[in-house]
Amino acid sequence: MTHDTLVIGAGPAGSVTARELARRGRRVLLVDKATFPRPKVCGCCLNGAAVRTLERIGLGHVLAGAIPLDRVRIAGGARSAEVRLPRGVALSREALDVRLIDAAVRSGVEFRPNTTILQRDRGATDVNVTVLASGLTGGGAAPEPGSRIGAGVVLGAASVPAFYTDGTIFMATGRGGYVGLVRVEDGRLDVAAAFDPAFVKSAGGLGPAAEDVLGSAGWPVPSELVGAAWKGTPALTRRPVRVAGERFFAVGDAAGYVEPFTGEGMAWAVMSAAALAPIAARDWQPGLAREWEAAHARVVARRQRVCRVVSRVLRSPQLTGLAVRALALVPGLAVPFTSALNHPAQLPT
Ligand SMILES: Cc1cc2nc3c(=O)[nH]c(=O)nc-3n(C[C@H](O)[C@H](O)[C@H](O)COP(=O)(O)OP(=O)(O)OC[C@H]3O[C@@H](n4cnc5c(N)ncnc54)[C@H](O)[C@@H]3O)c2cc1C
Repeated sequence: MTHDTLVIGAGPAGSVTARELARRGRRVLLVDKATFPRPKVCGCCLNGAAVRTLERIGLGHVLAGAIPLDRVRIAGGARSAEVRLPRGVALSREALDVRLIDAAVRSGVEFRPNTTILQRDRGATDVNVTVLASGLTGGGAAPEPGSRIGAGVVLGAASVPAFYTDGTIFMATGRGGYVGLVRVEDGRLDVAAAFDPAFVKSAGGLGPAAEDVLGSAGWPVPSELVGAAWKGTPALTRRPVRVAGERFFAVGDAAGYVEPFTGEGMAWAVMSAAALAPIAARDWQPGLAREWEAAHARVVARRQRVCRVVSRVLRSPQLTGLAVRALALVPGLAVPFTSALNHPAQLPT
């Protein structure tokens, strides 16, 4: 088959965009440098906006077997507070990403794993458009000074303390970063963290840094945690990039990334993929780039500003401690915030 659309990166942003474009009649080639399932540092929590968007575009079935989430327990030092969450789910990235690729292929997309496309090839003229969905480092956005790095590992169910129950997101914040833990569909514990690089160095590595943060919260440290094969990421917080140009559109993390604490990255990825498809499906003309810039700002930019505020609070142990104390007394204080983050964007029909 000859293709008229190239999608680079088969994470949630790329597979959902590819599927939506194929459903609109485009002949889509989806490529990824990895073979799947592949490891991906991620908290594995899909918030209410992600769940509702997937359902709305007919992809609710990819969440089969996911663990429903209804609360987050946040520790700031030795204090903790529990906040109710609107409906979300926990699902491993191995399961989610493979299912989304399958859905794209069933809609007519051709998928080629193990295929790397260099950034300079974006905007190639032998296709109508190229969609850049190649994640955190794929969009060419420069890291912001002082940005934290990400880290993650998934621990086997047998070594996980019973304290970490199904249905709750555990977030421990400490000096130098935070660690999120959640049970996924097969009982394993997904651990995802953001750390100051200097803290990781002084702690002696990613595992010891996570142990330090859990210890300061007084939470049990899973026996495999310190010695596990952690995977790190480059700097997380990036300056927003141009999200469109001559024959290319950027979507998902490739369009700029801010802060994982609020667990919104996958919601942004699927909401913006669904918003991009009606634009990228049209025959190329320069006005489409401006259309995508406006749509991207509407779907994602305001939400990213909320996350910037959260990330500033998390930088200060004093402010984090105050926030946790306030939430312990009045958990309802979180409602306006959790409702805003879990509200799906209006999408074109
Ligand atoms: C510590 C941490 C915790 C997080 N927790 C959560 C959470 O709980 N909930 C949530 O919603 N989000 C969370 N996120 C964010 C979430 O992981 C991302 O926002 C999401 O994966 C973005 O999807 P994407 O499709 O844009 O990119 P990705 O999922 O990163 O996919 C990009 C794909 O592009 C491929 N690729 C890259 N370069 C090339 C190339 N040159 N050629 C071909 N292929 C290429 C990669 O192999 C990859 O498969 C977290 C992130 C971090 C770092």
